[in-house]
Amino acid sequence: MSTITAVETSDVRFPTSVELDGSDAMNPDPDYSAAYLVIRTDSPDGIEGHGFVFTIGRGNEVEAAAIQALAGHLLGKNCEELLADMGGTWKMMVHDSQLRWLGPEKGVMHMAIGAVVNALWDLKAKRAGLPLWQLLARMSPEEIVALVDFRYLSDALTPAEALDILQRAVPGRQEREIMLLAEGYPGYTTTPGWLGYSDERLIRLSGEAVQDGFGQIKLKVGADLDDDIRRLRAARATVGPDVRIAVDANQRWDVDTAVEWIRQLAPFDLAWVEEPTSPDDVLGHAAIARAIAPVRVATGEHVANRVVFKQMLQAGSLQVLQIDAARVAGVNENVAILLLAAKFGVPVCPHAGGVGLCEAVQHLSMFDFVAVSGEKEDRVIEFVDHLHEHFVTPVDVRQGRYWAPLAPGGGSQMLAATLQTYAFPDGPAWAAGIEPEMAH
Ligand SMILES: [Mg+2]
Repeated sequence: MSTITAVETSDVRFPTSVELDGSDAMNPDPDYSAAYLVIRTDSPDGIEGHGFVFTIGRGNEVEAAAIQALAGHLLGKNCEELLADMGGTWKMMVHDSQLRWLGPEKGVMHMAIGAVVNALWDLKAKRAGLPLWQLLARMSPEEIVALVDFRYLSDALTPAEALDILQRAVPGRQEREIMLLAEGYPGYTTTPGWLGYSDERLIRLSGEAVQDGFGQIKLKVGADLDDDIRRLRAARATVGPDVRIAVDANQRWDVDTAVEWIRQLAPFDLAWVEEPTSPDDVLGHAAIARAIAPVRVATGEHVANRVVFKQMLQAGSLQVLQIDAARVAGVNENVAILLLAAKFGVPVCPHAGGVGLCEAVQHLSMFDFVAVSGEKEDRVIEFVDHLHEHFVTPVDVRQGRYWAPLAPGGGSQMLAATLQTYAFPDGPAWAAGIEPEMAH
């Protein structure tokens, strides 16, 4: 038996705004940040659990405080008991009757629970000696169903239906695991398309993306229609007709504006239109989707929880579902969302980029392929080539694919030196003033 002895939080920020990496129509100057968490126990194995919430700068300290507010649920607790019943552990935190008032099940507190849940999964996977995707994919259908809180879901997905989906995938699990290890999982890149980049840089990076083997790129849009048309024309001319181009408006438009704007961009053959409007607007997304079909609507990186995803699936608001490793309450809630997507037959193409999101979310897509949907056709994981060097087990993306991680854990552990250097506001990266070369 081991006891949880420490829950350490830190405010880690990278000065990415210096070079406009990550710039889009709503977020012109993000400093990619992590409200970071380490869970320690008194076990002689010394294994720790690491997790984080991704933010883009100001407010990261609020998120770190929210994580710390959950420490009482962990400190002094029997670690094996928490890890053995992750479904129960999730409910214990999400249903905290006082903290729940801050959501319920949305926003800062819910994301903080996500960081804690993910850190516990990291610890559990490291103790099992398995990468998270493999740990999840080797659980029995009954064990996976027990991870999910079906409260508010059962009108769309019952435990029996979830069990049926998972049981149907059991016979092919081994074969798909071998396939995944041999072929990798398809990715796409957003690196060329940041709104703050010049046309010249867009064209150069789009060409490089094709050379690197990516079958899809993504461009940020939504600030100026003429600019969008010019940039899309340049990108399409560079990548040719066979590479897919998605566009991302980052919630910039009202419903009618979205429909008009997308109609102007549709001739460039769009893989999808991402976040056309408010992530809370279930019916607005549905109206847009009906109006712009066959162009597909994608959303999810800011969708607050499994209940809103359920409604979006029920209403036909999205045709591409974008889970995020650090928006909802961690692995358990994302398992629920993967099961919902499988029930409705909608492909899951995760949101990643930021800092650490690629490292974390790849595990969920790989688990989904092996043990839930059984599909990777028409599915891609977002990739952005920033900040991977700060992780103990950075993603391995080559030939336009994510290669399955084999190191034990959930992928979210940062290097100790990074936690020190980029600590905000007193780490050396910030205390001395921002130097442009720090943001590549
Ligand atoms: Mg996006």
